[in-house]
Amino acid sequence: MATTLRFLGAAGTVTGSKTLLDTGRSQVMIDAGLFQGLRDLRRRNWEPLPLPAAEIDAVVLTHAHLDHSGYLPALVDQGFSGPIVTTRWTAELAEIVLRDSAHLQEEDAAYAATAGYSRHAQPRPLYDSADVARCLPLFHPTPLGTTVTPCPDVQVRLQSAGHILGSATAFVEAAGRRVVVSGDLGRPSHPLLAPPLPPPACDAIVVESTYGDRTHAGDDLATLADVVTRTIDRGGSVVIPSFAVDRTEVVLVALRRLAEQGRIPNVPVYVDSPMALSALAVYRRALAEGDPELRPGLGGPDVFDAGELREAHTAQESRALDPPPQPSIVISASGMATGGRVVHHLKQLLPDRRNAVVLVGYQAEGTRGRDLTEGARQLKMHGHYVAVRAEVVALHAFSVHADAGEILDWLRGTPEPPEVVYVVHGEPRSSAALAERVRDELGWVAVVPRDGELVHL
Ligand SMILES: [Zn+2]
Repeated sequence: MATTLRFLGAAGTVTGSKTLLDTGRSQVMIDAGLFQGLRDLRRRNWEPLPLPAAEIDAVVLTHAHLDHSGYLPALVDQGFSGPIVTTRWTAELAEIVLRDSAHLQEEDAAYAATAGYSRHAQPRPLYDSADVARCLPLFHPTPLGTTVTPCPDVQVRLQSAGHILGSATAFVEAAGRRVVVSGDLGRPSHPLLAPPLPPPACDAIVVESTYGDRTHAGDDLATLADVVTRTIDRGGSVVIPSFAVDRTEVVLVALRRLAEQGRIPNVPVYVDSPMALSALAVYRRALAEGDPELRPGLGGPDVFDAGELREAHTAQESRALDPPPQPSIVISASGMATGGRVVHHLKQLLPDRRNAVVLVGYQAEGTRGRDLTEGARQLKMHGHYVAVRAEVVALHAFSVHADAGEILDWLRGTPEPPEVVYVVHGEPRSSAALAERVRDELGWVAVVPRDGELVHL
């Protein structure tokens, strides 16, 4: 029987990554991501899988971000009990991410019950903390470059993707056929991580296309220095909605560099997110160990301490920043302002012209972050509309996703052309644009698979 691949998410969208490899004997799911963003997308998290979760033999997890890992507890809840092949740092970061996600799912269900807007009499969470606790022992930390055999007829090797700490591309071999799944690809210029390794020789490549139609241009470090300086000069504060894992570290390193060079004033820098602080501790540990995934010569774990780094752990410490007692920089999650503590800060800071909001990552359709980048004059938060008078600046170079040229360079690095490239993990325009460039510039077959599409490997 032919080995097949099936695209169960991240087709025509950037979230919900799930690719199912079926050898006829074994079923392996590569990434088990959560759909995020618009309500119609989130609703898809509740749709049944095309096969019982108990029939999935193993999962390969490329990295800890929720749109790749966030469905794992739901799989476990539905009966999955196989190994989850991933790196050690991904296992550690995924624990932080999944615990937070279960907490949010529980909160959402409780809120829906009290607000009475659910169609269900007793709204229940997609999964809860108990499901996460059952999920964690299944993690099978695997060193990069090592081949493992999660099922008798499937071999898996992970190699560095340079996207976040622990991130990997997956090389999967079954019945003599070989596929590389990129997961999310980092930028060769990531300030902390070594660049992604090129794909090994294979028959098919599944590649992400978050920025498949864009080039990260410009000197964003200079722009960041300017916006911070003028905001502090006019007596305002800067709020930076940031993804808790990796983006916070990248922003802190940039601020530290700017402070050292005297390019920004010395003001308190708050990290206000328990999840970001837990992830920061993992990054500090990797630095202290001199992990080879990190760039050499970064310095010690204090590379993140931008002058006056202050950690806001408790809700009370967070509330004390609404507004901050003096002009400050506040880094807080979530990165697209869909929830979390940053929403409270935005509510307080957006109406005042002196303040600034700096968006440092991809802002998906339907999120408050996207509305801000598109020039929204008011934003709805916790049921109220708030005026947007603060300065809004979007800095794309802080992205930890490769841009179109960098993705093409990564593909070009393979020792022999694959038979086909499947372009996933992008909004339709980005995926189509990248597929076009793969055909034009590399002369390879490139396809944007339909959601749910099944192909022979
Ligand atoms: Zn990611």
